[in-house]
Amino acid sequence: MSSLWQGEVVANTAVGPDIYHLRLRTALPGPRPGQFVHLRCGSSWDPLLRRPLSIHDYNPARQELELLYQVVGRGTAWLAGRRPGDFLDGLGPLGRGFTLPPGPRVALVAGGLGIAPLFFLARVAAAGGYQVTLYVGARSRDGLLRLETLQGLAVEVQRATDDGSAGFAGPVTSLLARHLEYKQYDGIFACGPRAMLAEVAKLAGQRGIPAEVSLEERMACGLGACRGCVVALYGEDGSIAYENVCSAGPVFPAEKIVW
Ligand SMILES: Cc1cc2nc3c(=O)[nH]c(=O)nc-3n(C[C@H](O)[C@H](O)[C@H](O)COP(=O)(O)OP(=O)(O)OC[C@H]3O[C@@H](n4cnc5c(N)ncnc54)[C@H](O)[C@@H]3O)c2cc1C
Repeated sequence: MSSLWQGEVVANTAVGPDIYHLRLRTALPGPRPGQFVHLRCGSSWDPLLRRPLSIHDYNPARQELELLYQVVGRGTAWLAGRRPGDFLDGLGPLGRGFTLPPGPRVALVAGGLGIAPLFFLARVAAAGGYQVTLYVGARSRDGLLRLETLQGLAVEVQRATDDGSAGFAGPVTSLLARHLEYKQYDGIFACGPRAMLAEVAKLAGQRGIPAEVSLEERMACGLGACRGCVVALYGEDGSIAYENVCSAGPVFPAEKIVW
């Protein structure tokens, strides 16, 4: 179920280079990890289109929604200027989220801002008794975001940086590949750049591990009506079909995607 709402800004704090952690007070109907909200990012009708942001966390007792976003253009720059007490116009939760497997061992693989939805999944999975390993990759240690918040939860964090400034030196998928040589997982969940997702899909497919990936496409309505965010998927018979990322996704089984 999705809804239109007004959320009051509780905090909007810089947590990295051009990266902000936004806390909003709003009542959402049962958001699931992997779903997103569609925010109006302007005080008038400009920009006209809402901007999609993943649910980074949700606390039902406090009715507090958390988002983690990078300033890349007009909408997110406007968002970075919001202050406590301001109100934002949102739509959601939208889309199809992650589905945890019957088995207890899960690997989450985040590239850069891909940590945004996987943080929520890590927390929910750990609370549900899953054995969670979170693989996080970034260009350098500055890009390893909000991991301190996971301390105290049953989440094993494995870091990788391209420049070797923290954790494994190299792509997070190389770290995952090494671990898959001796670790068993019942499910793999990934969010990040498309090339990283394709590599995760390959690694999972080679080992027969079910994997889900969250895709990012530019989207307009967010509700499946405008067909502005279609992605090519394999159907049951191997034929290719086109689905909306906003309504059929953004999370898809990795083996269905035409990489
Ligand atoms: C389902 C979904 C969840 C997302 N979750 C997050 C999140 O949690 N945190 C976050 O920082 N970003 C997230 N994004 C990307 C975010 O929506 C865009 O960065 C944002 O809409 C850009 O708006 P803008 O007005 O600031 O930039 P614009 O002026 O619209 O664009 C500026 C630049 O950003 C790129 N861009 C715009 N839209 C997207 C997009 N959808 N995906 C990738 N690049 C884009 C453009 O190509 C352009 O180079 C998500 C996208 C989707 C589809």
